[in-house]
Amino acid sequence: MNERNLQDIASLSRTREIIKKYDLKLKKSLGQNFLTDANILQKIVEVAGLYQPANVLEIGPGIGTLTEQLARMAQQVLALEIDQRMLPVLKETLSPYPNVTVVNQDILKADLKQETIKAFKKYLPLKVVANLPYYVTTPILMRLIESELEIEQIVVMIQKEVAERISAKPGSKAYGSLSVAVQSFWEAHVAFTVPKAVFIPQPKVNSAVLSLARRETPAVLVAGEKAFFHLIKAAFAMRRKTLWNNLVHAYGKDQKTQDKLLKALENAKIDPKKRGETLTIQEFATLSNALAMEILRPF
Ligand code: SAM
Repeated sequence: MNERNLQDIASLSRTREIIKKYDLKLKKSLGQNFLTDANILQKIVEVAGLYQPANVLEIGPGIGTLTEQLARMAQQVLALEIDQRMLPVLKETLSPYPNVTVVNQDILKADLKQETIKAFKKYLPLKVVANLPYYVTTPILMRLIESELEIEQIVVMIQKEVAERISAKPGSKAYGSLSVAVQSFWEAHVAFTVPKAVFIPQPKVNSAVLSLARRETPAVLVAGEKAFFHLIKAAFAMRRKTLWNNLVHAYGKDQKTQDKLLKALENAKIDPKKRGETLTIQEFATLSNALAMEILRPF
C-alpha cells in the first residue's frame, strides 16, 4: 500500500521549502501550478488503479510531488519535464525512488515510443498520469491519443471546463470536436473536481481529474483515423455554422467538390443543415467513411 509520511513533497511547507532552497520562480508560461495536497494525490493514484502492475508516463513532474506517489505504486515511472531548472530538484526529491527516470523533454516534441522503450525494462500496461500544464492540455491529449503508444488509461488533472467538454454528450452545450475525437476511442469521465486552494500558486480556473480508459473495441469503425479526426475538426471549425458551411469551407467550394459532399451526406443519411454539435460519434464515422468513398479530404 501507499505509505505517506511527513516528508512527502506534497505538503505546503515542504513545497515552499523546496521552492526557496532552489530559488525557483515558477513560470506561468509553463503552467507551473504545483499540487500540495496529499489526499488529492492519493485520489489520483486510486483513479489510475495502480494497485495492478503498470508502467507510468508522467508529463511535467515539476518538483516531483505526484511522481513520488506514482513511484511508490508503479513498476516504473518515466517523467518528461520541459523545464531544465527542475532537474536538480528532482534528482534530490526523487532520490529514494530508483524506478523513476526523468527526462528533460517537451512532451510535444519527444519521440515517445523511443523514450518509453528506453525507460521501461519490462512490458506492462502503460498508463499516463499527470497534472497537466493547462496552456497545452488539448495538444498534449491529442498527441497521446494519436500516438502509437499502447496506452491503457490516461488520468489527468486539467481545467474543469475542458474535462467537461471532453466527456460531454452529443447535443449538450459542451459537446465539441474534442469530445468526439476522444470518445470514439476512449471512455471519458470526470473522476472528481479539485479546488484552486490546493495549488501553489493558485490557478485562475477550477480543475478536475479526467479519466480516459481505452475502449476494448472503438465506438466506431473508421476507414482512416486521420481523415476522421480532420472531419471532426472541420465540422466544429465554426460552431454557429451548419455542417454544410463548415464542410464546404474545409473541403472546397467548387461545384465538383460540392456535388461529392452532397453525395457523401446523402449516403450517410445526414441533413447538411444540421450543426456539427448535433451529430453522434456514429454519424461522424459514417460520414467520414462516405467521404472516403468520394475520395474527399479537407485542405
Ligand atoms: N506534477 C507537478 C505537480 O503536480 O505539482 C507539476 C505540475 S504543473 C501543473 C505542470 C508541469 O509541466 C510543470 O512542471 C511544467 O514545467 C511542465 N511542462 C509544461 N509544459 C511542458 C511540456 N510541453 N512538456 C513537458 N513538461 C511540461
